[in-house]
Amino acid sequence: MADSTPDGVERRLPTDEARELIALTRDIARREIAPRAAEEEASGRFPRELFTLLSRSGLLGLPYDPAYGGGGQPYEVYLQVLEELAAARLTVGLGVSVHSLSCHALARYGTEEQRAAHLPAMLGGGLLGAYCLSEPSAGSDAAALRTKAVRSPGDGGDWVVDGTKAWITHGGIADFCTVMARTGEAGARGITAFLVPGDASGLSAAPPERKMGMKGSPTAQLHFDGVRVPDARRLGAEGQGFAIALDALDSGRLGIAACAVGLGQAALDEAVAYAKERRQFGRPIADFQGIRFLLADMATRIEAGRALYLEAARLRDEGRPFGRCAAMAKLFCTDAAMQVTTDAVQVLGGYGYTADFPVERYLREAKMLQIVEGTNQIQRVVIARHLVGPESR
Ligand SMILES: Cc1cc2nc3c(=O)[nH]c(=O)nc-3n(C[C@H](O)[C@H](O)[C@H](O)COP(=O)(O)OP(=O)(O)OC[C@H]3O[C@@H](n4cnc5c(N)ncnc54)[C@H](O)[C@@H]3O)c2cc1C
Repeated sequence: MADSTPDGVERRLPTDEARELIALTRDIARREIAPRAAEEEASGRFPRELFTLLSRSGLLGLPYDPAYGGGGQPYEVYLQVLEELAAARLTVGLGVSVHSLSCHALARYGTEEQRAAHLPAMLGGGLLGAYCLSEPSAGSDAAALRTKAVRSPGDGGDWVVDGTKAWITHGGIADFCTVMARTGEAGARGITAFLVPGDASGLSAAPPERKMGMKGSPTAQLHFDGVRVPDARRLGAEGQGFAIALDALDSGRLGIAACAVGLGQAALDEAVAYAKERRQFGRPIADFQGIRFLLADMATRIEAGRALYLEAARLRDEGRPFGRCAAMAKLFCTDAAMQVTTDAVQVLGGYGYTADFPVERYLREAKMLQIVEGTNQIQRVVIARHLVGPESR
């Protein structure tokens, strides 16, 4: 079933409901998200009210079980919604992706009681999540994390969390945090996951990082200073936290891939419109083969990226292994976004280098996508492990 509305890319969507979701997303993107994107990214304003709107519209819990307030949509549909949001403003698309990542541990590994208690508010109740894995000295080597959770004796099983998480998207504004903390031995097996309320006593945020782009999306360190977490908020078994974190990242990386394709599509649309308008040597620059070939290569990268993330999503929807394909999609789509946004600046010439057009912002935003949720070097490490097994030490 094709959706070929004139203002959007051609999409093959599995159901009428999916077509309606894409139409709704395009409507919200056009009316509410895109018009404010440039100004708010320049001023660094996070559009919290847009996330409330997306939650009310059923777009914040799309891939999750309707029994807990989710949308019950296949991943292939959720990702195409994300792509549309990211094309309008990456801060919003990425925010939805990170929120979804933050819900994964509870939805997948929580007990029935935990899901019933917390998931409906997280998926459709207007709450916003953060995913807390990275630390100042544990980035790519996330299993080296040092934030500690210690069981407090005689306290009904409460845990006490101390340490610092780094680079946390929505740090300081999130309503809940999925936190990976050390509860046992060094390395991957000594880590446990917890669901911590954003307003827990002893939890505070540093001022947001001063970033190259994505200024509207707050990224901050979170300090845990004796934060008490009841054992009822432990997700999964003790020591299972790192496996849970990686499982969430397989799905999260697909979200990043879809956002990258959306960003690339926005840059291409801008470049095509400009090339048809701008005249040099008495002709539109779109007449010159040098520009035509550049546009053709940009479009090809975007389409190939879209096909790759959809392939990984369909494997996931069929319950088949998709981690290798997800790493490839994250790697390919974010590298494609970097190239396409750079080329878009080139197509616009000097004007592309100014803030009067959005392409310079797109270029700065694309760089971030090559770093988050595992750098693109780490994606290659993951893909190579699937090909030739783990490295020998
Ligand atoms: C804007 C932004 C938002 C983020 N949001 C979150 C979030 O919400 N939650 C969260 O937990 N984290 C978040 N992160 C953190 C992000 O996941 C890390 O920045 C990333 O994993 C890399 O870690 P690092 O920055 O410490 O770099 P390092 O690990 O120090 O890497 C430095 C360089 O060395 C390379 N490198 C490292 N190890 C290897 C290796 N084995 N082989 C080859 N090259 C290697 C890396 O690819 C990189 O080029 C965010 C980061 C940014 C910038």
